[in-house]
Amino acid sequence: MAPGSSNSLHLSHSLDPRPTDALLVIDMQMDFLPGGSLAVADADTIIPGINELAARFDHVILTQDWHPRRHISFATTHGKQPFTDTVEAAYGTQTLWPEHAVQGSPGAELHPDLRIPHTELILRKGFREQIDSYSAFTENDGVTHTGLAGYLRERELTRLFFVGLAYDFCLGSSAIAAARLGFEAIVVHTLSRAVNLPGTVEATDAQFRRLGVRLVSADEIGGSQFTPSSGPVGEGA
Ligand SMILES: [Zn+2]
Repeated sequence: MAPGSSNSLHLSHSLDPRPTDALLVIDMQMDFLPGGSLAVADADTIIPGINELAARFDHVILTQDWHPRRHISFATTHGKQPFTDTVEAAYGTQTLWPEHAVQGSPGAELHPDLRIPHTELILRKGFREQIDSYSAFTENDGVTHTGLAGYLRERELTRLFFVGLAYDFCLGSSAIAAARLGFEAIVVHTLSRAVNLPGTVEATDAQFRRLGVRLVSADEIGGSQFTPSSGPVGEGA
């Protein structure tokens, strides 16, 4: 493709979306966006860029956090404080959160500004009362699988790009799990935002480096159809 391209485009060329790539859009749900119960700062600003990037991928998968009402990850389940308190689950220490993404609630809905009609799969996770699931692949106990790896392998989708929320929890855990499972994992950091509890971004970055998870900006990803956003939200360079 594009044989006339100059050598300087070599790197961005390697990031051109391929038929064997998938874009994973993690947890772009009302509760994680401004106004939601577990809002991630500035998360609304990445929606136009996600829509534009998704249009360049043949295969797009969305994830949806999907918790029962008395979920183990909710501070209210334990009468404790969110963000700062933890509980000891059977599988280890579980950070506690405000109630969020309750099954069937408005907060659990995908944001209506997402425009990705060719989405092929919406994967729900975290639906077991006693196990949280940051990762789209393996729940927080480390052994319960969501089935996503099998789905991707059967469809021969081998290189995965990650956008969405939150960088230091569900997106990060998903990319790390993907790399451990043998997929090539690429995180589009300009189209993600972090919860940013003490040390969580640094720990995520360190894991990415250790496992070879690549960090790129949306601008580095090829695709000739792309035109810069003319919408109300300016995207950082
Ligand atoms: Zn959750």
